[in-house]
Amino acid sequence: MKFIDLKAQYQLGRENINARIQAVLEHGQYIMGPEVAELEARLAARTGARHCITVSSGTEALLISLMALGIGAGDEVITTPFSFIATAEAIVLLGATPVFVDIDPATCNIDPTLIEAKISGRTKAIMPVSLYGQPADMEAINAIAWRHGLSVIEDAAQSFGATYGGKQSCNLSAIGCTSFFPSKPLGCYGDGGAIFTSDAQLASAMRDIRVHGQSRRYVHTRIGVGGRMDTLQCAIVLAKLDYFDWELQQRARAAASYDALLSGKIGLVARRRDRSSVFAQYTVVVEQRERVRAALDAAAIPSAVHYPVPMHLQPAYARWSDAAGAPVAQAMAARVLSLPMGPYLDDASIARVCAVLLDAAGAPAPSCSQP
Ligand SMILES: *Cc1c(COP(=O)(O)O)cnc(C)c1O
Repeated sequence: MKFIDLKAQYQLGRENINARIQAVLEHGQYIMGPEVAELEARLAARTGARHCITVSSGTEALLISLMALGIGAGDEVITTPFSFIATAEAIVLLGATPVFVDIDPATCNIDPTLIEAKISGRTKAIMPVSLYGQPADMEAINAIAWRHGLSVIEDAAQSFGATYGGKQSCNLSAIGCTSFFPSKPLGCYGDGGAIFTSDAQLASAMRDIRVHGQSRRYVHTRIGVGGRMDTLQCAIVLAKLDYFDWELQQRARAAASYDALLSGKIGLVARRRDRSSVFAQYTVVVEQRERVRAALDAAAIPSAVHYPVPMHLQPAYARWSDAAGAPVAQAMAARVLSLPMGPYLDDASIARVCAVLLDAAGAPAPSCSQP
C-alpha cells in the first residue's frame, strides 16, 4: 500500500501526459512557452479568479504574494502555527514578523476568534492555511481583515479544488496561493505553484516579480525573484486537469469509506457543512500515536504526521513565539495522524487500514470531534 499512489495516477493519464510532454519537446520553448499561458487561463477560469500567475513552487507563490503587497521589515503577518514551514518561512525571508494565532481543535485551521487580539499597528496581512484540503474560515477572516484594512492571502497549497460557500479555494480572498508539488491534490512532476487574484495591479506586480522584477527586458522596476514555473511542468498539470474532477470524486469516495468505518470510533478532523475538502490528507486524532503508528508499520501500512512540531516551537522560529504560545496547536501536533489517501486507494485497502488502526487505538478519545 502506498501513502499516495502517483504511479497509478500516471498510468491513467499516461497517453495525454506523454503527448503534452512531447509537444513541449518539439516546440522547444521550455521557459514561458505557450502551455504557461494556457494553464494560467484554465486555472483562472476554474477558480473564478481573474488572474492566475504560475510560479516555481507553492513557497515562491507565498513569497511573491507578500512581495507584491510590499510586506517587509517591521511588518507583521498573522498566520497559523500548524502548517508546513513554508508558510512562516516566506514571511521571515522578507524580514517581516510572523504572528502565530492558535488553531481550532476541531478543524486544525486557524481560529478566527483569536485573530483580532493579535492585530497591532504593524499588522499588514493575514495568511490562513486551508489545512488538509479544507478551506479555513475565510468569511470570518475576510471580515476581520476588512475592518482593519488588511490583506488576506489564503495558503491553499493543500486545497486546490475545494469549495467554500460555492466558491473555489484560491479565490476566497484577495490572494490565493497553491502548490503543484507532486503529492498535492493537483500535482506536477517536479516543483510548481500558482497565485490567484482578481486585482489587476497585484497581478501585474506578481508577474514582474516572478521574472526578477522586470517590467520590460532589462528594466527592473522592482526587486524580484527567479520564480517561473517551467513549460514542461505546466504541460503536465494541463494533462492532469482533464481527470482532476474525477480524481476529486474518488478522493471524496475514499474519505466517505474512511468515515463510514471510523466515525464515532476514533477522533477525526471535523469538516464544516459550508465547504468541501479535497482531502490532501485524511487525518485522525489519536492519543497513543506512537503505538498506533508502530501497529500500522508492522502491517506495512504507511502513515505520516502533519505536523509533529508547530512552527512556533521550531528551533529557527521560536524567537517569534509569544508568551501565550499556541497550546491547541501543540496538543494537536502530538495527536494527528494522516492515513493513506488518494483517488486510487480502494475500499478493501481502506478497510484494512481501519481494522489495524481501530485495533491499535482502542477506545475513542473523548475530546475529539466528529465530522
Ligand atoms: C506544500 C505546502 C507549501 C509549499 O509548497 P511547495 O510547492 O512545496 O513549495 C506551503 N504551504 C503549505 C500549507 C503546504 O502544504
